[in-house]
Amino acid sequence: MRKPIIAGNWKMNKTAEEAKTLIDMLKDKINTDKVEVVVCPTFTSLTTVVKELEGSNIGVGAQNMHWADCGAYTGEISAQMLLEAGAKYVIIGHSERREYFNETDETVNNKLIKAIAEGLVPIVCVGESLEQREADIQEKVVTEQVVAAFKNVEAKDAQNTVVAYEPIWAIGTGKTATSQQAEEVCGWVRETIEKLYDAETAQKARIQYGGSVNASNVDELMGMENIDGALVGGASLKEDFVSIVNFGS
Ligand code: PGA
Repeated sequence: MRKPIIAGNWKMNKTAEEAKTLIDMLKDKINTDKVEVVVCPTFTSLTTVVKELEGSNIGVGAQNMHWADCGAYTGEISAQMLLEAGAKYVIIGHSERREYFNETDETVNNKLIKAIAEGLVPIVCVGESLEQREADIQEKVVTEQVVAAFKNVEAKDAQNTVVAYEPIWAIGTGKTATSQQAEEVCGWVRETIEKLYDAETAQKARIQYGGSVNASNVDELMGMENIDGALVGGASLKEDFVSIVNFGS
């Protein structure tokens, strides 16, 4: 049985002080061991949030990292720096990074390999654009992204990697994929992992859906066979995140 994993992607929101207020509110209300709960604040709020969460079972992740150890990469941050700040997870290849910061399947793969080597739990994002969905090529697009992301990744590490399927047209638009659409693509992701590795790896890897997940659609999405969690943007900045994490109750 795969343990559900629900992560909040705070994106470029909340100063460290605001992050403290938000996490103090959330941590008092979130108390579950049925779901792995993760919050991903900005780099400058990581240490604050980690400190506030001491003794709780909510994990902390970063929203990006570089694959080099150190060096002349102005504005970037390394896996070691994230670990030192107390992060245990890292989002890789979010569509906003692919779209606005020129991330490619190749840089996503480099980052995935580095995150694994350093012991961070990667959350790798894949998903098609509206144009690609309208052209009905979402299976090809997502499959290729998954294949490219896992290049040179071993089965034991693939099992511990979380894949987040996020159709770009559903992110921040209030337009969620139907649970059938989400399930279909998450099923393809699992099949792709099985083809790349084996059935055991595919059964162990966790796949999230992301894109306008909220308190009212989470139950249906989480009821799908191949959806093991959610990557939540907007709703993770509000008390709604508590209801999302407590889905089904
Ligand atoms: P959203 O964002 O929940 O606001 O649609 C999801 C994401 O980008 O991870």
